[in-house]
Amino acid sequence: MLIKKINNLLIGTNNKGKLREIRSLLPKSLKTHSILKFDLQSPIENGKTFKENSLIKSKYFSKKTNLVCLADDSGLEIDLLNKRPGIYSARWAGKKKDFKKAIKKVYSELNKKNPNWKKRKIKARFVCALSISFQNKKIACELGKVEGTISHTPKGRNGFGYDPIFIPQNRKKTFAEMKPSQKFKIDHRFKAFKKIKKFL
Ligand code: IMP
Repeated sequence: MLIKKINNLLIGTNNKGKLREIRSLLPKSLKTHSILKFDLQSPIENGKTFKENSLIKSKYFSKKTNLVCLADDSGLEIDLLNKRPGIYSARWAGKKKDFKKAIKKVYSELNKKNPNWKKRKIKARFVCALSISFQNKKIACELGKVEGTISHTPKGRNGFGYDPIFIPQNRKKTFAEMKPSQKFKIDHRFKAFKKIKKFL
């Protein structure tokens, strides 16, 4: 489908951290709308991959509002945990979206797998699938990844979600210790955005 020029774009997330970051990436000429003001429930994310879940969201929110929608699905893959939490990253925080609880679960799962895990580098990556849809049609869908390791303890107060335990490759600080502007330039969402921005 050929969309000539997108003037109005709905950002399909209820997560304020993601909303802030996605807005910072978009051209200022684009009028953006948040789903928060439409009072919409999120759809059931029953896809098997980040891309499938991202498309479920962008199509669902576009159909509900009749606006072109940009949505993301993202999460943390930890190699020692066979890539968990992966697409279940948000669900590990429970209904109350308590990321202290999710981070505790990461550490307890690592301890279960290998009580000496702190002696090794625990490879992990953040993955983000960004998609743009209009009604039920996909306009674009791209994946971005940032490689790194898991910190032995949570560090830093910036960011959201698993930021306090993720140290990107070739850096010493966790994402939560970095300034948001530093994180936004290297992360998974930015990498996916670079691939998708030609559609905007
Ligand atoms: P969903 O894409 O809304 O299903 O949620 C993905 C979850 O992955 C978020 O709630 C966060 O916990 C986590 N996540 C995704 N991207 C980031 C990030 O940039 N920093 C920290 N956590 C993230």
